[in-house]
Amino acid sequence: MRVLHVAAEVFPWVKTGGLADVAAALPEAQCALGLDARLLVPGYPALLEALGGGRGVKRLPLGPAFGAAGIELIAVPPGRGRALPLYVLDAPWFFDRPGNPYLREDGTEWPDNPRRFALLSWVAAQLAAGGLDRHWVPDVLHAHDWHAGLACAYLATQPAARTRSLFTVHNLAFQGACELSVLPELGLPAWMGTMAGFEFHGELRFLKAGLVFADRITTVSPTYAREILTPAFGHQMDGVLGSRRERLHGILNGIDTRVWDPATDPQIAQTYTAKRLEGKAACKAALQQSMGLGVEPRALVVGVVSRLTAQKGIDLLLSALDGFDARAAGVPLQVVVLGTGEAWLEGWLRERCRAEPPGPAGVWLQMAFHRGYDEALAHRIIAGADVLAVPSRFEPCGLTQLYALRYGTLPLVHRVGGLADTVVNADAAAVGAGRATGFVFDRPEAPLLAQALTRACQLFTQAPAWRQLMGCAMAQDFSWETPARAYEALYRGD
Ligand code: ADP
Repeated sequence: MRVLHVAAEVFPWVKTGGLADVAAALPEAQCALGLDARLLVPGYPALLEALGGGRGVKRLPLGPAFGAAGIELIAVPPGRGRALPLYVLDAPWFFDRPGNPYLREDGTEWPDNPRRFALLSWVAAQLAAGGLDRHWVPDVLHAHDWHAGLACAYLATQPAARTRSLFTVHNLAFQGACELSVLPELGLPAWMGTMAGFEFHGELRFLKAGLVFADRITTVSPTYAREILTPAFGHQMDGVLGSRRERLHGILNGIDTRVWDPATDPQIAQTYTAKRLEGKAACKAALQQSMGLGVEPRALVVGVVSRLTAQKGIDLLLSALDGFDARAAGVPLQVVVLGTGEAWLEGWLRERCRAEPPGPAGVWLQMAFHRGYDEALAHRIIAGADVLAVPSRFEPCGLTQLYALRYGTLPLVHRVGGLADTVVNADAAAVGAGRATGFVFDRPEAPLLAQALTRACQLFTQAPAWRQLMGCAMAQDFSWETPARAYEALYRGD
């Protein structure tokens, strides 16, 4: 079975979030299962530099489209440890831009995003319909997030194409909205710009095209698949989704267990396994030292690796810490945050770090904030922390808690979306049954988060109980094999 994935980012070259990890790992996992999967991505500078030349690379000129000229489709065969064949869309006018793939340096969206991602989607649909590569026509077009939503619409305009389409929602909050007046530039029939298509309250939403025109819709956890049918989590699309609910499925993301493996991770101070945990203590000490925190084994290190937006609930953590009495909890608390995002949150974090600065051991609360996007530090925090906080208000799947589980770092999460599906709360029953893997609070409220943190502190002082939780967390299997099989079953129409 041939599967063409289309996505706007791919690890390790262009990544703003979990989508890049999935776009890299899912098709590879499918190749390992014997499917013939390929990935189409835009030719950003970092990607072209890494892959544009070399042996076996083929360039196909596409002519002008969407106001851009000199467009080429580059077919890149597998190589250099990469099992996945790629199609790279080389359109310098649209994609030869540094930095974030969607935003200008001032944080606003590129004004031509509709045309940029329409082009990506159009090329995907042409490939899927057999119009670009006669030797490789996919059975399934698998489009990811709003950037690829129009691919399902373009494919629907080609009735002769036998390729089925599947659209995966990685985050319903991002919908690719633009003015209705853009429609004539997209080369789609006028009726698609109405309510029956991807018009929504007087504008176009590219995500809606995926929801309306795909043969199947998936999202990245079973709980999120249920939540998005409700007004509270539907980001206005609950009605549209409700009308297609029999086509909607939740498939939990996996993680790349080669990139995220404490036994082999070259980015951490010392490797370790569930049986040999000394390495984790070394990782903790190295993290404390590098962040300027007191090197204190008895302190509970709480890590955060996150985009800093309201979605991620880091403000809930800061509010919970405001009144938190670590002395009463009996455990010094050290909070390490890595992230970038909205200015108000970054400002609040800086302010809290000034009030509770890192320093020598013997202080009840210390905080350190590293502003930035830093893959290596992300690994060092996930290995070195005792607890990873993911207090998201909503979370389609969440990857960091999955990494944390594998590294024996216990997640502290809001019971929502994929977090609810992957972390078992350490209440007395679950601890007794040996099933607990973390700390879960029921509503996005700071006092409830503080209670969960208190519970973590209590258990942290009971070394055998903590070790049992770590063992259970590290034994979880979140490899891609299971989700890759679930997608295959959907492709086949099971
Ligand atoms: P989302 O896609 O909503 O941002 P996920 O948990 O699904 O959330 O995926 C986030 C991914 O981005 C993870 O791989 C995480 O490690 C990574 N990440 C987020 N922020 C940073 C950062 N500041 N530095 C390094 N990696 C980060």
